[in-house]
Amino acid sequence: MYNRDSLDTVCGALSRIMGIDPPAFAAEPNSSLVEYAEEKLAGRRAGRVLMFNPDAVAQWIYRKYPWFVSDVARIGELELPLRSVMPSVTPVCFGTMYTGAQPAVHGIRKYEKPVIRIDTIFDALIRAGKRPAIVADGECSVGKIFRERDMDYYIFDTLGQIAEKAVELIREDRHDFIAVYHGNYDHWMHKFGPESTEAISELRANNYTFEMLYNAVRKYWSGHDSLIGFAMDHGCHEVDGHSGSHGLDMEEDLNIMHLYTAVPAASGKRPEGA
Ligand SMILES: [Zn+2]
Repeated sequence: MYNRDSLDTVCGALSRIMGIDPPAFAAEPNSSLVEYAEEKLAGRRAGRVLMFNPDAVAQWIYRKYPWFVSDVARIGELELPLRSVMPSVTPVCFGTMYTGAQPAVHGIRKYEKPVIRIDTIFDALIRAGKRPAIVADGECSVGKIFRERDMDYYIFDTLGQIAEKAVELIREDRHDFIAVYHGNYDHWMHKFGPESTEAISELRANNYTFEMLYNAVRKYWSGHDSLIGFAMDHGCHEVDGHSGSHGLDMEEDLNIMHLYTAVPAASGKRPEGA
């Protein structure tokens, strides 16, 4: 069975939670995510959002290997089952995640990485006077399709550099919205299969990276109400027992499980008027 809520509902929800006008073509906000954050933050808006984007971590992988994502599960207070979009490939799905629009509207309808020309959450943030940033590798979709905005892009070759920069940015506390992309699980999943030793070890790496980012948010963003998300683009399936793929209209590829946690500002540190 396909998950009910579309991936296109995330963008509107993040906008609502941050108190900004959503991008022009965003679908209605995901009500589960909005209600969760409003309750946890006692009706206040999140001043900071950290989105960790681990490519291709399928819902079925998340469910089948709970011990390898135990920190994600422990930290993530809201499990948000979502249905990704077709074709379920990276630039198409991240295009939808950060515009809130279906592929026919944002314009990427196959595996290609042009700069998206329609309104994105990054444009909406900039209009609202906020500072977004993307931390990613140079070849990935996230590092390419949201370019040409007046915002900060931090592009690196290795996962370690990406994670280190993400922590550094959180510590500096200069950005309101940070998207951090990790393509490691997807890479090894394609090569050796979704459940291969290589892919599963990257799943574990993503688990630890998410915990690290969460700890940084709690420590360095303690003066803000914050939201942190474990937010993949699509799932994956095994091919012929020894490699992996995605892109098809099937539950394994389309069903994903985002996890979100709102972190209220430490008492006494809340910004004036918030
Ligand atoms: Zn992907």
